[in-house]
Parts: sequence; structure tokens; C-alpha cells
Amino acid sequence: MINENDAEIRKALIADLHKNELSSYSYEIMGLLGEIEMALDNLPEWAAPQHVKKNLLTIADDAFINHEPLGVVLVIGAWNYPLVVCLQPVVGAIAAGNAVVIKPSEVSEHTSKLLGKIIPQYLDKDLYPVVNGGVPETTELLAERFDHIFYTGNTAVGKIIMSAAAKYLTPVTLELGGKSPCYIDKDCDIDIAARRVTWGKFVNCGQTCIAPDYVLCEKSVQGKLLERIKETLKEYYGENPKESSDYERIINKRHFDRILALLEGQKVAIGGQHEEKTCYIEPTVLVDVKADSKIMQEEIFGPLLPIITVQNVDEAIQFINQKEKPLALYAFANDKKIIKKIISQTSSGGVTGNDVIMHFTVVELPFGGVGHSGMGAYHGKHTFDTFSHKRACLIKSLGMESANKLRYPPYSQKKLDW
Ligand code: NAD
Repeated sequence: MINENDAEIRKALIADLHKNELSSYSYEIMGLLGEIEMALDNLPEWAAPQHVKKNLLTIADDAFINHEPLGVVLVIGAWNYPLVVCLQPVVGAIAAGNAVVIKPSEVSEHTSKLLGKIIPQYLDKDLYPVVNGGVPETTELLAERFDHIFYTGNTAVGKIIMSAAAKYLTPVTLELGGKSPCYIDKDCDIDIAARRVTWGKFVNCGQTCIAPDYVLCEKSVQGKLLERIKETLKEYYGENPKESSDYERIINKRHFDRILALLEGQKVAIGGQHEEKTCYIEPTVLVDVKADSKIMQEEIFGPLLPIITVQNVDEAIQFINQKEKPLALYAFANDKKIIKKIISQTSSGGVTGNDVIMHFTVVELPFGGVGHSGMGAYHGKHTFDTFSHKRACLIKSLGMESANKLRYPPYSQKKLDW
């Protein structure tokens, strides 16, 4: 389906987010194809009964874990990477043997319409129906009983999903967002840190769930960092990012207004230009940002990068720990001990040291949040596990009955001494 509809998929992604053909391939199509190939290659092994260690009482028996499909699952997608975010969980759900109701995000309307058209051409309509629509349709879906709900989106709606699921004791996976911090130590290659952070923050116009939300660094680092980010932006997007085919747009006017409202009263060090008609917001870096300002209270999910100065790594850790647990955490330092200290003294869904976003690409690592950034995880085999029930199975031998005497009444000390 993906290969045969490649051109239409790319067209829909351009229409929704101004994603160019190459970035559509790198950020949406390639990962999805990789996930499918991985499931096809590994399914016999993932699905095979998993034999476990036995004890003296079960030495002659058969003890294993069987992977059962959960049943009918609901996958609700978000709009920022509308193809991969919606279909990547579906790959594992199908691999695990489930029927899947697929609900793409109505916000990325071109991609959802396309998914509604092509999925029924390739998959059984009864087993894998696509339901398109907005809040009323999703609310109606949530009134039904499912065996699992996998939701990607914001934390506020995550709570709605979880309460609807509670009615039927339906387990949920919630892939949410949050403010993912990025600490840059004074003793690190600022050039490299700036290049990696600039990429991870401004790719997809900042609309990436694991984009670095804000930077924490010492005052002495800020000047050089700003200088390097400015140079890097020019290298990536040219003199005017508005004219670059590699720079995306904000998904719609509502989000455009929301992001601009976060800019109010802030000191712009780089960027700040915008255009309402095309939902364009220039890559923007802010300095002297107060910890209690609005932009530091909610996930930015747009191309604004606040820099907050701290005295040292301990103050950065304290700053991070005062907020909800984020989806991702980033730390740049030459000394790995500093990165490990940050890891051991904070919590987040995932971590990348000396880069951003890249832990997402290691499919052996579970991808998911913790606390307000979500629950449960997926990618690769983790998706298969998410959509499987691990059934504990023990098949006893009918022999060696005398060994069972111990557990049958009448109980006596003599039996125990034996
Ligand atoms: P969205 O508006 O597309 O909402 C997500 C889904 O929830 C949609 O399918 C929508 O129909 C449904 N929905 C919206 N309101 C609802 C309601 N009141 N009741 C029931 N269903 C409802 O996407 P969004 O929330 O704007 O997405 C952005 C958020 O998603 C960010 O916080 C981002 O960090 C997070 N995100 C997380 C991941 C991840 O993998 N953890 C990936 C992408 C996005």
C-alpha cells in the first residue's frame, strides 16, 4: 500500500504540513517500511511460545508464555507525522493478531482522507476499518468497548481517553507530549550541540513530540550558542527560511495563533517573523525567558526555542525536576559522567545524550512516556508486546505423583521433614 501510493502520500503530506518529498520519505515513509519489514522478518520468533526457567516442582513439565492477541483494538493518531504516528502502532497490532479500528487525526485532513481511501483497498474492511472524523466521532468510538486503546496526542485528551477506557477496564497506551529539556554543558562542543539542537527543534517546524522544548545552559554558553544556531539556520534553510522547501508550516491557524501567543512579551534573539496566510513562523530563539512565563508552562510544539540560563548542572537538574516528567530529555557534555548524573537524578520517557531525537530511531528501545508524558511503549517488538496478552501456561506431567504429596492434605510436620 505504501509503495504503490507513494506519490499520493507525499502529496498529502505537502498539503498538510508543507513536508517536502525527501523529508516525507526520511521522517514518515522509511520508518514505517522499516517497521513492517522488521515485523515480517521477526514475527515467527516474536510469536513463538517463550519457554521459561523451571523449578524443582515443575522440572518435568512444560512452562511457557503464549502471546495472545488482545482482540479488537483502537488506534488514535495525531497530525504532526500523520502517516507514521497513525500506522506504526497498527503494524504491531496486526502482527500480534488483533483487529484494529484506525482513527487518523482530522487535523491533518489530507493524509487522513487518503488513509480512509487506501487502507480499505488493501486490508479487510471489517477487521481494519478506518474511522475518519473529529471530536464527536472519536467520542462515539470511545463509548464502544475495546480490548486496548492506543492513543497518540496531547495530555489533556489522554485523560479523556483513559476515563472512557476505565468504564470497560480497557488497558491503554498513551503516547503524549510534554516539555522535553535540553541541557548544554559549558564543557562540550558547542558547534556540534548547536547543529544537532537546531535540526531537532526546527524539523517539522517544531511540531515534533520529542523536539527539545527549551535549552538550559550557563550564561557563559549562551552567546556562542546563539551565534552557532544563527549560522546553522542559515546553512539549513538559507537567508530566508520562508523560501526554503525544507522548512515546514504550522498545521493550522489555531496552532499558529497559539504559538504566537507564547511569543508575547518575550525577548527575541533570532527570528520572530511570521505570516498568517501561510501559517509560517520563522525559526525563533528567545533569551532571558522567565521560568514562570507562559511559554515555560506548556509544551511549545512550534519553532520557538527558549534559552534559560542556570548556574550549573545541579540547578538544571532541579529545574527539570520541578516540572512534569517529559517525553524526552537531552544532555550535551564532553564528560559522560555529567550525562549519567542527569540520567540518574531525573526521569523522562527516553534520553539521548550528545544529540536529540535519535533514541527514537533505535527500535530495540521502547518508545513512550512516563507520568504526564504517557504510559506504555512501542516500536519494533515492543509494539508486538503492547498488543499481546502474555498468557502464563503450564502443562503438567501426569507422572511423579508422589512428589505432589506435600501439597495435599492432611498436612503434617512429617511430610515437611521429608
Ligand atoms: P490531535 O488534535 O490530532 O489529537 C489527537 C487525536 O485525538 C485525534 O485523532 C483527535 O481526533 C483525537 N481527539 C482530539 N480531541 C479529542 C476529544 N476531546 N475526545 C476524544 N478524542 C479527541 O493531536 P494533538 O493532541 O494536537 O497532537 C499534538 C500532541 O501530541 C503533542 O502534545 C505531542 O507532543 C503529542 N504527540 C506525541 C507523540 C508520541 O509519540 N508520544 C507523537 C506525536 C504527537
